[in-house]
Amino acid sequence: MALVVHACRSLCQWAPTGSTTGGLRLFACAGCGSEWVRTEPWSPRQADGSWPPGVREELASSGPGAGAAGSAGS
Ligand SMILES: [Zn+2]
Repeated sequence: MALVVHACRSLCQWAPTGSTTGGLRLFACAGCGSEWVRTEPWSPRQADGSWPPGVREELASSGPGAGAAGSAGS
């Protein structure tokens, strides 16, 4: 899949889009237009460095496509 990823400055304001791509929840940044799903090797952060709503939950979830991000613990 080809997500849009732009360099962020102090604009980032992430939120779930309510859409999915490849069975994964799609998040988007209203500030710079980047997109993210949990299989990406990076994690989105807000402009102030905090976790966007839903992102930590998404990273902790497991399901189709999981396997790479094994930080859920047992
Ligand atoms: Zn951004």
